[in-house]
Amino acid sequence: MDIFLKIYRRFKMGSSYGISCRECYYRKDFRIGIGMIYSPNNLKDIDSEFALLPSLIRSKKTLEQIKTLLKEENAEIADDYGHEIYRCHKCGDFYGRFYLRLEYNGGTYEIEYKCPKCKIRLKLIDHSVSAIDAMQEKVINLEKYPCPKCGNYSLYEDGVEILWD
Ligand SMILES: [Zn+2]
Ligand SMILES: [Zn+2]
Repeated sequence: MDIFLKIYRRFKMGSSYGISCRECYYRKDFRIGIGMIYSPNNLKDIDSEFALLPSLIRSKKTLEQIKTLLKEENAEIADDYGHEIYRCHKCGDFYGRFYLRLEYNGGTYEIEYKCPKCKIRLKLIDHSVSAIDAMQEKVINLEKYPCPKCGNYSLYEDGVEILWD
């Protein structure tokens, strides 16, 4: 991971992000980034009653996979984890999911999600990182995606708010 992303991460608090359409009533809100308690150590705890990961990842099968890798392969959690926006390339809809990647001797594991409607793999939406003074800001390239409802290229960023939890 390059140095810019590392600096960016330090400033990256959780925030909310809205996607709206100018041509129809499509609107969805997402949570992006991380909360204060999201440290790699907290994430590694899967079994205690305070475990964070089971509240972020609903699939029991995925949780088991992660647990096995942490335990048997001594996997480390890569530090680009966080809430992200995914998109299905079939129905075009957007979904908020928790991004997590593990690194271990001989491989990496990236968490996978499926579109609840189409059952195909969701992809992270395209974004770039821009620098404003010392702050790194994530810019989501919404213009390249058509609205999932009306099909027009008329989506816009509708409210970004920092969440301090
Ligand atoms: Zn879909
Ligand atoms: Zn629309």
